[in-house]
Amino acid sequence: MERLLLLGASGSIGTQTLSILKNATKDFELVGFSVGKRTRNISYLIKKYPTIKGVCMISKDKMKSYQKRYPNIKFFYGDQGLLDLIDYTNPTMVENALVGFVGLVPTIHALKKNLKVALANKEALVVGGELVNDLLAHGHGSLYPIDSEHSALWKCLKVDDQNVDKMIITASGGAFRRLSRDELTNVTAKDALAHPTWKMGAKITIDCATMVNKSFEIIEAHYLFNYPSEKIMVLLHEESHIHSMLRYVDGTYRAEISKPDMRNPIRFALYLGEIPFKTYTASDYRNFGPYHFHDFDIARYPIVRYASKVIDEKGTYGAVFNASNEEAVYEFLKGNIPFLAIEKIISKLMDKHVNKPHPTLNELIKVDKETREEVHELIRKGEY
Ligand code: NAD
Ligand code: MG
Repeated sequence: MERLLLLGASGSIGTQTLSILKNATKDFELVGFSVGKRTRNISYLIKKYPTIKGVCMISKDKMKSYQKRYPNIKFFYGDQGLLDLIDYTNPTMVENALVGFVGLVPTIHALKKNLKVALANKEALVVGGELVNDLLAHGHGSLYPIDSEHSALWKCLKVDDQNVDKMIITASGGAFRRLSRDELTNVTAKDALAHPTWKMGAKITIDCATMVNKSFEIIEAHYLFNYPSEKIMVLLHEESHIHSMLRYVDGTYRAEISKPDMRNPIRFALYLGEIPFKTYTASDYRNFGPYHFHDFDIARYPIVRYASKVIDEKGTYGAVFNASNEEAVYEFLKGNIPFLAIEKIISKLMDKHVNKPHPTLNELIKVDKETREEVHELIRKGEY
């Protein structure tokens, strides 16, 4: 029986996780959860799961009113509250379904406590992959990826991790895959939120349209599986049925193939990869099914060049990549900057950044904060 703490219970991954737990009460005891601005589910979850000991939310005021209503449950708030919630609820596993930089510190905190971490929050690895891997290498905790591409790679590697030539991460191409770069000038947030194959939170849906998401996934694959940047490739695959694949040195392929449904990788991570799964092999990936593939063109998605920069140079580059993207995406969602400005802002800040190798957690937090301020400065000056 796993005592599970779910961070980000109100989000897309969090909600799908709850739908899995509903039918898995013999394997998981939900000991606590966090929500962000959407608080309407709190009472329902507390009633449904009598095992809940603690809840974290963003606002202090709301927290106080819930604390009065539920005196037997301990309520926390804010970034520190997420850490206190981990300490207070005493879980054996933390699922991190938070979005953005806010997911980094709780990941580190949980690993330091030697907990199992099921990780959807890829930003934690983009920014702090070195710190996370240092902890894992020293025997602190364990990590189980939820991202569908990485879940597929994990499965394929479990079957055969010898003589791998390339990891091939598939990409749907996002909402604007049929548009040329010129046609991207006037697209709106509403257009960008219409993902062709997956239904996800707003931020990651925009990240798919810009291909920042794929860049993050290349970095994520590097830290999870310890492959160098030149061994990790992207292939456009329209249907999102092949979740990623390995190419071996003899030219054959191994893939995980299923309809897009995040509950599969979530379940696989929650069960530590110890449930039945299937992979398929083929002498050519085009034989996996009646699917559509396109070669990845870096000129169409130039932002992906920063993935290898982050992998090869490490240090504080991941923090700049993530923070510049996060702030720019939220400004785009508010309608304050055009779509292509996201890419321009990231490029400006990445290109001028002076890297600091082997940063501490506090240094990463500082670079994150400074980068966000720089994004707002660029927007104020109209430099995008
Ligand atoms: P979402 O926006 O739907 O949910 C995010 C959760 O984080 C919410 O519960 C929200 O309240 C919480 N949150 C946000 N900011 C917070 C803050 N400052 N403090 C505390 N809580 C905060 O996002 P999502 O789509 O579920 O994505 C979650 C993570 O999983 C992301 O890192 C994303 O890249 C990754 N991911 C998502 C999918 C998917 O299908 N949605 C697939 C693969 C990976
Ligand atoms: Mg993914």
